[in-house]
Amino acid sequence: MIRIENLSKRFKKLQALDDINAFFSTGQVVSLIGPNGSGKTTLIKSILGMVKADSGIIYVDGKKINGDPSYRGRIGYMPQIGRYPDNMRVGQLFRMLKNIRKVPDAALDTDLLVKFNLASIFDKPMRTLSGGTRQKVSAALAFYFNPEILILDEPTAGLDPLSSEILKEKIMQEKRKNKLILITSHILSDLDELTTHVMYLQEGKMIFLKDIETLRKETGQEKLGKAIAHVMKGGKKEALWIDEVLALKETDKND
Ligand code: ADP
Ligand code: MG
Repeated sequence: MIRIENLSKRFKKLQALDDINAFFSTGQVVSLIGPNGSGKTTLIKSILGMVKADSGIIYVDGKKINGDPSYRGRIGYMPQIGRYPDNMRVGQLFRMLKNIRKVPDAALDTDLLVKFNLASIFDKPMRTLSGGTRQKVSAALAFYFNPEILILDEPTAGLDPLSSEILKEKIMQEKRKNKLILITSHILSDLDELTTHVMYLQEGKMIFLKDIETLRKETGQEKLGKAIAHVMKGGKKEALWIDEVLALKETDKND
């Protein structure tokens, strides 16, 4: 469904992505994991055509993504930090996107709109929303057009516990519909239930891409956090970077 071949991207001297090769297919929930600055968001933005790679090719359903941007319509994207026109009201945002996409009401997925009670804030301008409420809007939009592919960059960051559970349950539902879901999170326990595959990035390099059962078998660990720690630290139970990212998760300025 998504194939990445020899993808590389530099920002000046910094090698943000270094010869990435991967294939993701329908029904998979791929967790992109790695320290801050390892290239997760850059990879996601490359798939979305928001970052132009220096070299390499990305295919979505067998078609190269450069050229025809229509593939974007098949992807629901929840950015790490959603940026919206300041003065646009919440309701306007949903109506505008619906009109652009020309999707009939019956085809819309309003599940999260309802569960997050966003209708009650339809009159509020985007600039007045708190970070968490903005996250809810971003989440509801990612699922709104019932896309076959979901790309979620730190979806639960900034959400209150109840909203976070609602979102995780929604992701589980979409997983059951056999969609392809790419997800990043610093909160590895959030990924435990969801993940079918783990892609581990470090300094722009893909260290591994494995299915969760293989990872569990190889490490003897059930929990994703412990399994990753096991791989990265050659068997030690804790990896430094896990503490590091948990401490830094609020300050990740790279979206
Ligand atoms: P992650 O999402 O894994 O935290 P990113 O993909 O955001 O990492 O960033 C990877 C590296 O590329 C980081 O060192 C980051 O500072 C750098 N980077 C990302 N976007 C840009 C940009 N637009 N200009 C310069 N450097 C960037
Ligand atoms: Mg990121």
